[in-house]
Amino acid sequence: MNGEWGEHCGLFGVYGHPESANLTYLGLYALQHRGQESAGIVSSDSQDLHSYRNMGLVSEVFTGDVLKRLPGRSSIGHVRYSTAGASDLKNSQPFTVHYARGGLAIAHNGNLTNAHMLRDELEAYGSIFQSTMDTETIIHLIARSHEHDLADRIIRALKQVEGAYCLLFLSEEEMIAVRDPHGFRPLVLGRQKNAYLVASETCAFDLIGAEFEREIEPGEMVIINEDGLHSFYPFIPVSPSHCVFEFIYFARPDSFIFGRNVYGVRRELGVQLGREHPAEADIVIPTPDSGFSAAIGYGHETKIPMELGLMRNHYVGRTFIEPKQSIRHFGVKIKLNPVKELIRGKGVAVVDDSIVRATTSRKIMKMIRKAGAEQIHVRISSPPITHPCFFGIDTPMRSELIASSHSIEEINRYITSDTLGYLSLEGLKRCVGEDNGSFCYACFSGGYPIKFPPRMGEAQLQLFEER
Ligand code: SF4
Repeated sequence: MNGEWGEHCGLFGVYGHPESANLTYLGLYALQHRGQESAGIVSSDSQDLHSYRNMGLVSEVFTGDVLKRLPGRSSIGHVRYSTAGASDLKNSQPFTVHYARGGLAIAHNGNLTNAHMLRDELEAYGSIFQSTMDTETIIHLIARSHEHDLADRIIRALKQVEGAYCLLFLSEEEMIAVRDPHGFRPLVLGRQKNAYLVASETCAFDLIGAEFEREIEPGEMVIINEDGLHSFYPFIPVSPSHCVFEFIYFARPDSFIFGRNVYGVRRELGVQLGREHPAEADIVIPTPDSGFSAAIGYGHETKIPMELGLMRNHYVGRTFIEPKQSIRHFGVKIKLNPVKELIRGKGVAVVDDSIVRATTSRKIMKMIRKAGAEQIHVRISSPPITHPCFFGIDTPMRSELIASSHSIEEINRYITSDTLGYLSLEGLKRCVGEDNGSFCYACFSGGYPIKFPPRMGEAQLQLFEER
């Protein structure tokens, strides 16, 4: 994967804790892998909402002084990687508005597939949008609703939207969490003493020493206020479509989502890959960090020792300035370096989680070959990606996905490996325990669980480009 496919977003919320903003800051820290472009927190002191958001990593955006300016016993936070809407401050979240009923903040993980149609309608009736995010559509629908309660307004609004959403809302009095009926993205509920917590993944609870209670279910709405926690299922139920890529790549290995530990599933993918595509190799090397768990499983199954043949520099910031071409072009070398003494003269099986455009894979294989590898056998712990995602993952257009137009043998030649083996779709299904149709595999099969008009999908990716 290695940076070819952007991540999406992470959510964290606290209700009923005197240090709510500090807890949210820590929770976002644990969820940083879900989005590195911007971070934000909105807190409520029961009278007003207080907000701070900025571009950058959680550690760059928040200082002690900033957190002191976020008082109150409830907070919601967001880390973002843009999926719909340009990457700039006005598109960072949580998004806060003041409307006739008071203040309201919203944080969203997902992507709305009918947002452009709704936006056109809203603008025709006079709505003025402040951002280019699909999420803002929900705010406008809520503001226009005639329902009395905030929860009813949210339900009315969400009945009009389609697509993937995990949402956190914060008003002066309550926090509301909603997961879409398909359950594309994970959302979990936790407790810390009397406080309620909501997060995209359980790793956020581990960091702050909170207890994981349960997953928020597809189609469930959880309202938390001074009366406690109330759960509702206001939407028409549909078959779940959990994003299988959360298991393959997006979620942190130490998290528990969709009823399973992510590391355990990822390791099993490697075992299955070893059964399907054993290799004549001396060592197995993972592509750091995304290939680690699958490589452990692959090495275990094939009895080939796993070695750390590629080292990753974890300290390359987003602001690294590539020197002029005349000095040198770093490319992938700024992040990865082979251990030449380990690789020289060996047959290596390189395990990664996926191939998107294949440009990075090609550079890595050339690097390994230059380090002296005799043979390179690439093993991928997911099937070929042939279709883009419209449910909250930042994917390239279909034409840029190499497997959409090239055979496995052509890809093998392009990335300059000796052999290339992908996990089969059947193998993937077996590993995630698919027996009742509860996962989305659309990026491998094109079988999108939500139908949208032809061509709309491609347009969706540029949905709210600056107008
Ligand atoms: S299309 Fe792929 S990345 Fe998108 S939700 Fe489905 S499985 Fe996940």
